[in-house]
Amino acid sequence: MASAKEFEGPTTELLQTLIRNECVNDGTPESGHETRSSDTLKQYLEGSGLDVQTYTPREGRDSMVARIEGSDPNAPSLCLMGHTDVVPVNPDGWRHDPFGAELIDGEIWGRGAIDMLNLTSSMAVAFRHLADTGFRPKGDLVYFGVGDEEAGGGLGAEWMAEHHWDAIDADYVLTELGGWSHESADGTRQVTVNVNEKGLAWRRLRVRGTPGHGSMPFGADNALIKAAEIVRRLTEYRPIPELDEIWRAQVASMDVTDDVRDGLSDPAKIWDTIDTLPTPVARTCHAHTHTTFSPNVVHGGQKTNIIPDVIDLEIDIRVVPGDQESAEGHLRAALGDLYDQVEVSDIQNSPATTSPFGSDNALWTSVEKHTQVAYPGAKLVPGLTVGGTDARFYRERGRTAYGTGLFSPGMDFATFGSRFHGHNERIDVASLGLSAEFFWGIARDLLT
Ligand SMILES: [Zn+2]
Repeated sequence: MASAKEFEGPTTELLQTLIRNECVNDGTPESGHETRSSDTLKQYLEGSGLDVQTYTPREGRDSMVARIEGSDPNAPSLCLMGHTDVVPVNPDGWRHDPFGAELIDGEIWGRGAIDMLNLTSSMAVAFRHLADTGFRPKGDLVYFGVGDEEAGGGLGAEWMAEHHWDAIDADYVLTELGGWSHESADGTRQVTVNVNEKGLAWRRLRVRGTPGHGSMPFGADNALIKAAEIVRRLTEYRPIPELDEIWRAQVASMDVTDDVRDGLSDPAKIWDTIDTLPTPVARTCHAHTHTTFSPNVVHGGQKTNIIPDVIDLEIDIRVVPGDQESAEGHLRAALGDLYDQVEVSDIQNSPATTSPFGSDNALWTSVEKHTQVAYPGAKLVPGLTVGGTDARFYRERGRTAYGTGLFSPGMDFATFGSRFHGHNERIDVASLGLSAEFFWGIARDLLT
């Protein structure tokens, strides 16, 4: 047996190296530099005598794959997938060096400590321990250290799925994002495991007007004024909420009054109920249950004294699973008579994805079982990821992928959320050990 405590040391060390590698992905192809961490992981896993492959979609952007071959090609396989890139930082907001990976009062500080180098390193340490101890699974165990998650995976998981699917394919996949927990009023620990995620339908709206002199604006056909009205209508728009089984499970696990619980379960009351909640909770509840529209970029105008004839708006649309309406249908409903005055074009599309969960899914039951090691009696709560993760490339191909790890009791959703892409990102060493033990246990359970 290996205990969470025993995993803490090696996981801490590996996490520190990954943070110090500074694989910052700012969205440009020449950023990221994930080859540094791909090499670190390759070296670390080769130490147990495994053959590790690296893949280069572009110079400097390597991903890597290691495999413990199963004895039965028909047995189910498991992939542990962790991304190696991190988002940029503004060091002014930090109390410690964001790439120093210092260990202070039982916590490792640095960009990626939560998203998601903590899990990337926990998975690698569990994998290495299995290899070192001669683990002989029936189905394959795959470790996938992948780049470019933070920019959508075009040089990472999406590229690998298109070009090297056989190298990364597995029936079951564990990756970010989930594993936080809280105790409900009756003392039951509730652990969120994300089983699906929202789709994305980014759109550009080109708004046209008639140019004129800025000195005579009365009654002008000003594209910017029209664009402002479009933004206002999008903000007011209330699409039909999607209150599915996963949402109901989340509501049941929340620490709220019965009134709030009822309101959050009723399509006619949910919007007004959300309005009464504190901002971070309200924001989460809204995003979980609605297709959302966030106008985030505006381009246009030429000169202070010219009435603009073209304004481009970029709208970040996130589609909730189960929503049957198209993005265009939503825009038509939101904009009303103004819809016919804009040209709508696609920026990016990916559908919402869902994995099966529950007592008849082997990955779900295995995750549930191994949650009990740290938290006897704990309950799994299925959740929805409102952003995007690499899990979608597996779910799109019919594989079961969950976002989860396992953290110490203090890591509730609010704590996790405030550090995610935030200042002072950090993870406690105990959570590193718990996650490593968790992945180790699941691999042994599911594959033998
Ligand atoms: Zn992430």
